[in-house]
Amino acid sequence: MNNKSFAEVAMELSGKSKEEAQSIGKIDTADDQVEDLFDERHRTVHSPVYRAVWDRNFPIKDFTSKFNFSRKHRDITDKCLEVLRTHKEKGSLYNIENGKLSNSLLNDLKKAGYFGLLVPLPNKELISFSEFADFLSEVASIDPHVAGLASVHGCIGAVDPIKTFGTQEQKDKYLPPLASGELLSAFALTEPCAGSDMTALRTTARLDGDHYVVNGEKLFITNALEGRLISLVCLIDDQPQVLIAQLPSMQDNSFKIKKYGLHALKRLHNNGLIFKNFKVPKENLIQLPHGNGLTIAYHGLNLGRVALCANASGCMNAMLWSMIPWAKFRTTYGQEIGNRELVQDRVARLSGYILSTNALTSWCSSLLDLGYRGELECIIAKTFGSECEKESAIELCMKTHGGRSFLHGHLIGDNIHEFLAPLIYEGEGDMLNMAFFKTLVKDHGVKYFEPIGKFLSKKQRKKPAASDFLLHPTLFVPYATWVTRNMVLPAPRVDISHLPSKLIPHAEFAIKNLQKSRLQISQLMRTYQLKLADRQCRMSILSRNLQHLITILVTVGYTSSNYDQITSSIADVACENLKNKVLGCHPSDDQIRKSVKLGQELSNQQWGDRTDIQTILMRY
Ligand SMILES: Cc1cc2nc3c(=O)[nH]c(=O)nc-3n(C[C@H](O)[C@H](O)[C@H](O)COP(=O)(O)OP(=O)(O)OC[C@H]3O[C@@H](n4cnc5c(N)ncnc54)[C@H](O)[C@@H]3O)c2cc1C
Repeated sequence: MNNKSFAEVAMELSGKSKEEAQSIGKIDTADDQVEDLFDERHRTVHSPVYRAVWDRNFPIKDFTSKFNFSRKHRDITDKCLEVLRTHKEKGSLYNIENGKLSNSLLNDLKKAGYFGLLVPLPNKELISFSEFADFLSEVASIDPHVAGLASVHGCIGAVDPIKTFGTQEQKDKYLPPLASGELLSAFALTEPCAGSDMTALRTTARLDGDHYVVNGEKLFITNALEGRLISLVCLIDDQPQVLIAQLPSMQDNSFKIKKYGLHALKRLHNNGLIFKNFKVPKENLIQLPHGNGLTIAYHGLNLGRVALCANASGCMNAMLWSMIPWAKFRTTYGQEIGNRELVQDRVARLSGYILSTNALTSWCSSLLDLGYRGELECIIAKTFGSECEKESAIELCMKTHGGRSFLHGHLIGDNIHEFLAPLIYEGEGDMLNMAFFKTLVKDHGVKYFEPIGKFLSKKQRKKPAASDFLLHPTLFVPYATWVTRNMVLPAPRVDISHLPSKLIPHAEFAIKNLQKSRLQISQLMRTYQLKLADRQCRMSILSRNLQHLITILVTVGYTSSNYDQITSSIADVACENLKNKVLGCHPSDDQIRKSVKLGQELSNQQWGDRTDIQTILMRY
């Protein structure tokens, strides 16, 4: 019993099958092992989100000062953007024969240093992740696929496992070709039978002399192509591990690529991989002192989740640029649609989403740069970024462009699957909402509920008897003290007087509700006890609300660090929109008026020229 995680014990007590309890236990253990990789002060229980919920002293500085706006490597990033713009103008972004990113584009990006941005090499100054993420958003506003390629290569592909966990030999061998782009990389985790459930992996590797012999099938692997370098998650002695595998330049009996039609990521290569006695040199195993392949997978995913949020922001930026000129051009019932309330409100809401995703990208990437694990924070970036991207594409941009959205050559029609797929990859949003909640409650559960659970399990009972409270006070008094303290003592005052006055009420709302949430969470744990894991809808709702509250605060913090009048008005509207979501209510007349006025102001600004986006199709 002792080496089982609390999650596993709780699942067993709640009557789940041994198989399900063990699977959850494996995930929980891998999660603990990732925590062990970080300094104590950077672990989840010291993270800004965790402390915002559980600490009585609200960590306001963690929300208002953790933004890094320095851009030291503009020489390289500007060169990459130039390459991208030139290819877009010339119409040479994609190969004519298969529609994938063109070889000439990839070659020019290699020369400009695009693939080496996150790869450490001797005598090379590394770009910070904050700078990379900000740059990625600019790339995405020109082409989301090119941004996606860099994020798979540098964040979830082979770069992160090798640079973080690799041996010196592995680094010497693989980092230079990964940096130059000679080797592009991929991350091969999911399988036909294992997507959301990472414990269902079936691909195996068996040591035979100097090689591991791999058998199994991977599905949905972005960037997987002959000759590329993949981080391959497979079972070795029943434990998930990561092998760095270079795919042969030609398919043969031991390695085959499985092709299928896929709507999303249509400019990249996304394939299945089939291995039959495929050999990987034994020195290509990534070994960890503690932990296993899931530990490595979790590590890279956080970078990928922030990159996804940056990509979403860039895509929404392109949507906004497409909407403004169109709304000025299109006239119905004798008026430009841009003069209508509905359209002005959409412009304001979209600007709010862009601001909040920029804020989350900047905040999370700075936290990762500072050495935080960032588990809770990066989940927010991923779920918020992907939800906003979906809503902006469908509710705001598509509706504003009307029927033309579906024409070939239109931003929405051409990319709709690109704008939806982020909801699923790097973890489906609702699954992540539950993971967020479970991570947030884990320590509280272990501290106050685990001793009671273990006591009940020994007594083979599901609920405490009245006499237990008297006979075993040490089990119940700590929790009763915690509840009383949090109910009775007033929360310490949080000084937010330095924030812009327009945004102070939003910060107050978020802080007050975050501080209240620990009692709500604990109440939920008391109410559902061992059945809580099955109350998925309830967990998901509370989780989403907490994430919105954090997003409000990060938006306020980001805006105050980067203040100007119009950004502050956008932040105001963005926070009101989020507040309504938390409260589950419609906007008031005042809020609508404010949003419409902002949309009008934004539409009347000088927007410069973005000739790379086709904004008006079928002119008349
Ligand atoms: C475009 C694209 C690119 C991708 N790139 C990569 C890549 O590069 N590398 C890689 O390894 N993978 C990649 N993937 C795979 C991706 O990570 C998985 O699709 C994702 O994790 C979901 O897994 P699944 O599709 O098997 O969903 P499933 O596991 O089939 O789940 C389907 C749905 O069921 C629900 N569900 C599942 N389990 C539960 C539960 N316990 N409780 C409640 N609801 C549940 C969820 O809503 C879930 O979305 C990619 C996928 C796509 C679409």
